[in-house]
Amino acid sequence: MEVKETDVLVIGAGPAGSVAASIIQKSGLRVHVVEKEKFPRFVIGESLLPRCMEVLEEGGFLEELKKKKFQEKFGAKFLKNEMIADYNFSDQFSEGWNWTWQVPRAEFDQTLVDVIKQRGVPVDFQTTVTAIEFFDDESSLTTVQDVHGVEGKIKARFIIDASGYGRVIPRLFKLDKPSVLDPRKAIFAHVTDAKRDQFDEPNRIIIVTYAPGTWVWIIPFSNGNTSLGFVGDFEFFNQIEGDDSAKFRKLILGNEYLKNRFEYAECIFEPRKLESWSATTDKFYGNGFVLTGNVTEFLDPIFSSGVMFATVSSQLASHLVVKKLKGEKVDWQIEYTTTIQQGVATFRSYVTAWYEGTLDTIFFAKKRIPLVQKQICSVLAGYVWDQNNPYVKNHTTEIKRLARMIENGMKISL
Ligand code: FAD
Repeated sequence: MEVKETDVLVIGAGPAGSVAASIIQKSGLRVHVVEKEKFPRFVIGESLLPRCMEVLEEGGFLEELKKKKFQEKFGAKFLKNEMIADYNFSDQFSEGWNWTWQVPRAEFDQTLVDVIKQRGVPVDFQTTVTAIEFFDDESSLTTVQDVHGVEGKIKARFIIDASGYGRVIPRLFKLDKPSVLDPRKAIFAHVTDAKRDQFDEPNRIIIVTYAPGTWVWIIPFSNGNTSLGFVGDFEFFNQIEGDDSAKFRKLILGNEYLKNRFEYAECIFEPRKLESWSATTDKFYGNGFVLTGNVTEFLDPIFSSGVMFATVSSQLASHLVVKKLKGEKVDWQIEYTTTIQQGVATFRSYVTAWYEGTLDTIFFAKKRIPLVQKQICSVLAGYVWDQNNPYVKNHTTEIKRLARMIENGMKISL
């Protein structure tokens, strides 16, 4: 049996995997990527956040991505009946990028992987990790299997697990932990959007509040199609008769904005469903490995934070792996877990506040305070590590306080 050798083995070639491979390769260490699927492959997660642009820039991906002419994204617009909350990333509190992209992920992920391959990183597609053995010196021997069932082995000094929903190391070593968020479901498709120009600008994600706890994403692409998805609890979808395609059509007709825009839209593929996606793990690192991207924790799609966390966590983890393999000491708990968890906890407060309705009160308030708008806009852009922003630093208390203030007619001072 063939045994390959590398310094760092990266599992998964999604955004987290490609970012990791790029940073490791730039450091001069050997890196090898294994990916279960054949690319391009469909994956959900199409609306990016400005914060991930910094990582894509460091990874050397921007030039190739720009050539793809993806739809530029300048903000996020929330609609509830006649009410509108439009956040423009150029009007932010935190320093940083004020735009990003809306991307069909098959093409986006393929572009990232092409960049690392062009730089000489070996990527084995249709190769699935089935087992890993770790040794006392933190090195490991990974068993992989190709589509024909042929097994191979990869010896590595360190592993970065960027396997997304595959959750390879948490599953193999029983590190999975249930999320504190309620389980939810999404039904979605890519649709034609011929009436796009009569409605909103294509350069932002539109979130429509559909019913309590249920919302819709509208993510226009530059190819003229739009990603349209409904998210709610299981009970909500169970009440609607028919299969997923029938439910999808009925849901479009159940909201005036959606009916006017999408009643006659064609589905590019039959509506698909995803459910119970929130998951986390006991630990983000261990003897000879670190977890990045969705493997660490995926919260909820409402604020499009998935790819941002995937890329930011991979960037940080990869720098720490380089530091470690070059002989320096790394405090994984403080330098990695605590940092990532701080950003995750911030978004978790906003996700909870969204489903509790607290954010509705804030987003659609009649009187809005410009500085607070900017601070919340920075959270929505993914700048969830800026401790100068009170809506980051005191995320658990500030949103509740602001909602109370609005409900009391702004009688409490800031
Ligand atoms: P992935 O993109 O999942 O890549 C992991 C790769 O690992 C895959 O290619 C997989 O094939 C490979 N793999 C798995 N198992 C193995 C194995 N055993 N061996 C080898 N390879 C393996 N995020 C956003 O940023 N914006 C959005 O608008 C958004 N919308 C979403 C809507 C829904 C309904 C859901 C559920 C999620 C959404 N997300 C969104 C989240 C987004 O999908 C993920 O956060 C993102 O894809 C994570 O990237 P990743 O690189 O960590 O993992």
